[in-house]
Amino acid sequence: QPEAPRLPQVRKSAKLANVCYDIRGPVLTRAKQMEDEGHKIIKLNIGNLAAFGFDAPEEIQMDMIRNLPNSAGYSDSKGIFAARKAVMHYTQQKHIKGVTIEDIYIGNGVSELIVMAMNALLNVGDEVLVPAPDYPLWTAAVSLSGGRPVHYLCDEANGWLPDLDDMRARITPNTRAIVVINPNNPTGALYPDEILRGIIDLAREFGLILYADEVYDKVLYDGVTHTSMAALSEDVLTIIFNGLSKNYRSCGYRAGWMVVCGDKRHAQDYIEGLNMLASMRLCANVPGQYAIQTALGGYQSIDDLVAEGGRMRSQRDLAYDLITAIPGVSCVKPKATLYMFPKLDPRMYPIEDDQSFIAELLEQERVLLVQGTGFNWPHPDHFRLVFLPHENDLRDAIGRIARFLESYRKR
Ligand code: PLP
Repeated sequence: QPEAPRLPQVRKSAKLANVCYDIRGPVLTRAKQMEDEGHKIIKLNIGNLAAFGFDAPEEIQMDMIRNLPNSAGYSDSKGIFAARKAVMHYTQQKHIKGVTIEDIYIGNGVSELIVMAMNALLNVGDEVLVPAPDYPLWTAAVSLSGGRPVHYLCDEANGWLPDLDDMRARITPNTRAIVVINPNNPTGALYPDEILRGIIDLAREFGLILYADEVYDKVLYDGVTHTSMAALSEDVLTIIFNGLSKNYRSCGYRAGWMVVCGDKRHAQDYIEGLNMLASMRLCANVPGQYAIQTALGGYQSIDDLVAEGGRMRSQRDLAYDLITAIPGVSCVKPKATLYMFPKLDPRMYPIEDDQSFIAELLEQERVLLVQGTGFNWPHPDHFRLVFLPHENDLRDAIGRIARFLESYRKR
């Protein structure tokens, strides 16, 4: 073998210096390695519904299959007409006024649109208020776009609702926007209208844009209802995000949308930027777009899963009861989503590095969680638990977590 030439290291760009997405971080890599070695890992780490037998509605699959022959070409950059029309009707059902077809962008999941929305907006030094804890793509997208994420506190003592005083205190002349994730990943909180109104008042007072990630708006328990931010913020530029990944158990289809709502008269330049970025990626995955109209119309099978006796709700109740029965573990019971964000009492569990803690749990008990700091939570005293596995697996997994924590207490 000739000696390999000495080449300079290929390094990632400086743009990635502050970008972090720990949900698929090093602990997951280790879990995959362990699986390759033949170990069975119970995964409570990712909200991937189909992997746990929450099947996508059959009519969506059938529609995609039927439309596959029509899906080989590019579509309009903003998406096919039928999908955007269906989203327009959906905004009407959610009492959002004034949305036209032109305000709607279909994307490869909400993820692509989040990055697009931030890229179109931010200049170096611009600040965006993002919740702590957050779904970390938002923080990562702000950083990647050259902006500075500034975290506002969601208050565990108040059911994880955003702390409006903290939010106000973090607004500076550089602040451009507020991100709201409602229903919330990772806490499972659902925000009452008065909190949404408080956030809208701040946006109005300081001339900020609202970004509302509402991708779990049908995953609701105990009879609660969801209000879209845009239904209350008619006079404030508000961009809402939603899609098929969670409500319709089809994250692999990569079908999401973004709707520019509220007062957009002063935002034509930004909208031009969004249009340019949408055009540059040509269009979203077309078969996935064909699923949208069918999904949004008619019978909504998610309702049965979240109703009393439904599988998601039963698993939420079971996971909550089991996790809060462990000494030193407390948790706000989720009203929505697939997640809970329990707290470990630091007096009983003096954790210094929660990623190592989660890695140790994986090695010892073959259970995979994500550490709280992965959601930009500033203290190493939380973790996120996904309650998607079947009841037996949940019992098994939380039993193992309890055993691990018991051994931790005895150290
Ligand atoms: N927003 C939130 C709050 C999420 O939890 C997720 C995925 O877990 C996404 C966005 C990404 O969704 P999509 O599959 O549509 O890209």
